Amino acid sequence: VENEFVSPSHRSDCRSCGSTQLTKFLSLGPTPLANRFIKASELALPEPTFPLDLYWCAVCSLVQVCEVVPPEILFRDYIYVSGTSATMPAHFAALANEVAERFLLPGSLVVEPASNDGTLLSAFNGRDVRVLGVEPATNVAAMARKRGINTINEFFSESISEEILSTQGAADAIIATNVFAHVDDLNGFTRAAKRLMSSRGVFVVEASYLFDTLDHLQFDSVYHEHLCFFSLTALAALFDRHELEIFDVQHQTVHGGSLRVYAQHKGGGHAVTNALVDLLRKEERRGVRNNAVYLGFAERVCSLRERLVEMIRGLRSQGLRVVAYGASAKGNTLLNFMNLGPDLVEYVVDKSPLKQGLFTPGMRLPVHSPDRLLIDQPDYALILAWNFVSEILRQQEGYIQAGGKFIVPAPEPHIIP
Ligand SMILES: [Zn+2]
Repeated sequence: VENEFVSPSHRSDCRSCGSTQLTKFLSLGPTPLANRFIKASELALPEPTFPLDLYWCAVCSLVQVCEVVPPEILFRDYIYVSGTSATMPAHFAALANEVAERFLLPGSLVVEPASNDGTLLSAFNGRDVRVLGVEPATNVAAMARKRGINTINEFFSESISEEILSTQGAADAIIATNVFAHVDDLNGFTRAAKRLMSSRGVFVVEASYLFDTLDHLQFDSVYHEHLCFFSLTALAALFDRHELEIFDVQHQTVHGGSLRVYAQHKGGGHAVTNALVDLLRKEERRGVRNNAVYLGFAERVCSLRERLVEMIRGLRSQGLRVVAYGASAKGNTLLNFMNLGPDLVEYVVDKSPLKQGLFTPGMRLPVHSPDRLLIDQPDYALILAWNFVSEILRQQEGYIQAGGKFIVPAPEPHIIP
């Protein structure tokens, strides 16, 4: 496994505006890649770790991770599949409907960079439009093709835009959900979209929202795959440099709170909405251009770590058993940052059969099926996927009825019931 690995590079300039006025405000410590689960046969091998730090750009306000792992390592063989989540297909159906009603004509071309298993594009079925996915993960692109979604197995880039232009013409909509924050070459990606947009075309971007991350203490959404935490202010500055103009914005609840922005060529036909103007003002008031808001977040994150670790140590010192629920990338950031190893947390349960039987990166907790909770009945289960607390509580009624308790780690550590 180790020779598959290439070291990340550290960038010292802002990946949006190129400024070197970057300030580090949160350090999560040396951290392995959050999705690189370990096989039993690899437990004796050394595991590479890399700094996991958050920086803020004083020029364009973009919040970012500056360690860059080559995308070929991260995204060529991807485990996350949109269609398997309960909430995403409904979210994508609503998005497809809105894009079609507002922006598409009969025969319009819709292109989706990082189209995953084709869940979003398949929501355009039954409409008189052409869809095309661009997906780098070979295994996931194959799933999309199997369901009939025309898919190019590549990273979205300027050369792919040229290829699409020459074979299919310009796109009336380019939709990038859950990818923009993972792209190191933000300017190249934005140029590629700009190049491919028809004169009336729109570029729709969905990404997790900086102020949700800050307000709800979602420090665990920081990992090496997640390079950018966007405010509307930072997105507007990026697009402006590429002669694109954001004309509308919506706040979405998915992924712990996201922004959906709609951009057009500068001077395009869509009027700028009040929602856009209001949110830009609100961010200004909240201090998006001021270091204090970021330092305050870092302080609250460190205080949270102290309180949660103290709670778990207290339970362990009474001889109580603690496990964890949900072996996600977020969960691994939390476990590693808080140094919650096997002495404090016995194992993790996770619904994904792909992860069961493996060990978490860094803390090396074994991953078992959630059935284990009922069989084993540990005293406490720390919920790592704490954005899904109510769903997990519903699914694990049996464990609770038998006396099991859950620990919700953030934004304030507490025990249920
Ligand atoms: Zn910048």
